Amino acid sequence: MSPRRAVRLLMFACASALVATGAHARDVARDKAAIDASLDKTYPHLDALYRDIHEHPELSFQEAATAAKLAKEMRALGFEVTEHVGVTGIVAIYTNGKGPMVLVRTELDALPMEEKTGLAYASHATQMLGGKPTPVDHSCGHDIHMAAWVGAAQQLVAMKASWHGTLMFIGQPAEETGGGAEGMLKDGLFARFGKPDLGFAQHVGPAPYGSVSYRAGVNSSNADFLNVTFHGRGGHGSMPNLTIDPVMEAARFTVEVQSVVSREKDPFAFGVVTIGSIQTGSAGNIIPDTAVLHGTIRTFDAGVRAKLLEGIRRTANATAAMSGAPAPEVEFISSGKSVINDAAITARTEKVFKAAFGDRAVYAPQPGPPSEDYSEFIIAGVPSLFWGLGGYDPKAIAAAAANGQTVPGNHNPYFAPTPEPTIRTGVEAMTLAVLNVMNP
Ligand SMILES: [Zn+2]
Ligand SMILES: [Zn+2]
Repeated sequence: MSPRRAVRLLMFACASALVATGAHARDVARDKAAIDASLDKTYPHLDALYRDIHEHPELSFQEAATAAKLAKEMRALGFEVTEHVGVTGIVAIYTNGKGPMVLVRTELDALPMEEKTGLAYASHATQMLGGKPTPVDHSCGHDIHMAAWVGAAQQLVAMKASWHGTLMFIGQPAEETGGGAEGMLKDGLFARFGKPDLGFAQHVGPAPYGSVSYRAGVNSSNADFLNVTFHGRGGHGSMPNLTIDPVMEAARFTVEVQSVVSREKDPFAFGVVTIGSIQTGSAGNIIPDTAVLHGTIRTFDAGVRAKLLEGIRRTANATAAMSGAPAPEVEFISSGKSVINDAAITARTEKVFKAAFGDRAVYAPQPGPPSEDYSEFIIAGVPSLFWGLGGYDPKAIAAAAANGQTVPGNHNPYFAPTPEPTIRTGVEAMTLAVLNVMNP
């Protein structure tokens, strides 16, 4: 441990003790009022940045223009910015005296899908994916996170007289495909820039805007991609007896694999298997050679995960055996481990969120089924809190619920958070959470 880090840790330990005993606790209402007043002036700039990023989304590891925009913003605020950390990642450091080093992370990437919101600032962008031009959409809301990330940096710099420490703001590529957080770590994120004492990140979702939700412990799922290739023997559609039909294998497997979830897994334990893509065949009268399936597997618990992976592999092998086909290729690729929130940081931040947002600060009773590679930073030794940020008009949520429906969630082509209240709450929550651990 470097002397600098030892001093930082000691300072942080002292700061934690002070916060825990209530001494030197910040006046959250006063901080929030200061942030709100400042946002009244700075929001138009954040709004323009948000719309620009939304209209020009970029796919995982292709976020060159997005990263350059953020780097420019952070340099203008006085951060020392390094680009191309883990391909397209950026690291922005702001040192303000002795104190803890705090990680604040946003993702940079968007999704390969067509936006259908019809918004004035909707994306019409395409990028190459697998050699094909593909529509791109910020339908996971990472554009909201980026605007709130710049906004929080702006606020923290404006309030620098009232805190001490080092900010490590990172723009992480490729959250959607997985590999972005890992790529930054492998490129020496902590070795080159220092290892943060703690970290924060937030994610927008279809909850009421103005609200935040958080929980200690498991916050999101383990995610594994599933790739299965069934091999058959192609031939004429009128003579199936001379073939081994991989379309039949794909169909059987898609149905049978759900019995692993419903019959083998503990019904009280969370576990999901979804086959989202089946690619096979070219015409109705041709039996193809192969069928390729892609899916996703989500779990909270490592034991449940192992059980599902074993059951899926066994089901794929048995399906092929039923058809007298060769063994299939079955591949699992981990794209994110569960985010496990630190209990002490959660408790400390909860007090601030309650003081700032009242009953719109909600303790989440359950983890969320999506997954996140922010877990890589936690596994690498940065205790953290990752919270949820509401993005929709409460009236729209209530109207949808009255019809037995929900507003469009993340990864839906109609996903459309309301920018201003969502970004403002994101800026407030992030700024207050960081200030709370950086007391002088
Ligand atoms: Zn997503
Ligand atoms: Zn996301």
